[in-house]
Amino acid sequence: MVVANQKGGVGKTTTTVNLAASLALHGARVLVIDLDPQGNASTALGIDHHAEVPSIYDVLVDSKPLSEVVQPVVDVEGLFCAPATIDLAGAEIELVSLVARESRLQRAIQAYEQPLDYILIDCPPSLGLLTVNAMVAGAEVLIPIQCEYYALEGLGQLLRNVDLVRGHLNPDLHVSTILLTMYDGRTRLASQVADEVRSHFGEEVLRTSIPRSVRISEAPSYGQTVLTYDPGSSGALSYLEAAREMALRGVGIRYDAQHAHAGTQLDQHSTVEGIQ
Ligand code: ATP
Ligand code: MG
Repeated sequence: MVVANQKGGVGKTTTTVNLAASLALHGARVLVIDLDPQGNASTALGIDHHAEVPSIYDVLVDSKPLSEVVQPVVDVEGLFCAPATIDLAGAEIELVSLVARESRLQRAIQAYEQPLDYILIDCPPSLGLLTVNAMVAGAEVLIPIQCEYYALEGLGQLLRNVDLVRGHLNPDLHVSTILLTMYDGRTRLASQVADEVRSHFGEEVLRTSIPRSVRISEAPSYGQTVLTYDPGSSGALSYLEAAREMALRGVGIRYDAQHAHAGTQLDQHSTVEGIQ
């Protein structure tokens, strides 16, 4: 599952690590691939990612096997992370001249033999070659949308990119899931944005939205997800509920009948005009 939105700070990383931890706590084996040079997902999972650590950069640029960079997350059984280091900042340019530059992550994942139920890929806030690698490797796209003004701006470009990758490189790819983040039920703006997103995307939008919560934003500074930092908090419970909803829908399970259904619905929505 590719967690993407080229708008910065909308909750991609927070969603990736907390959904991954929720799925692992439900008993799944989950790998988080940190594909952002900022390395925020690695930090939030308490994974060492200083410059010398073998990382996803080595996988993409030097064809190192994924199994040689994956580390277990200490606090959560069944959760693993392929970290990103600052080297990855150069990969966007270094990849340009490499063979099969768009499908290097896909190849690395195909060669990874450990049993897994889910792979979540945290993308950087851009639509460059790193995000393209994620989209070629993935089966589904999860778009976190922050319930703020300008939330839908840029979304049309993201959807067009998904369509392009589907057309040329990965015929299975589709937007399966939209998650509303940083929802503040006290403001009219948040509910207006939520209504607008739901009317554009319908079924793809999870019923559960993630509230704005101080506990969620504090957790990364302790190298933890909110699921271990404060398991009873509203933020933790909402990510658990979102994960449960995804598991029930069969999101992330490639050949599930419901998945095919979601894909058909998306085809109607992905051409929605009027989203900038
Ligand atoms: P980038 O585009 O830089 O990768 P991002 O889309 O990954 O950003 P995050 O890093 O997940 O976004 O979140 C941006 C900021 O908002 C972070 O400081 C994070 O702690 C905070 N944040 C995310 N979700 C919530 C929430 N539900 N409640 C409060 N703060 C949140
Ligand atoms: Mg991020």
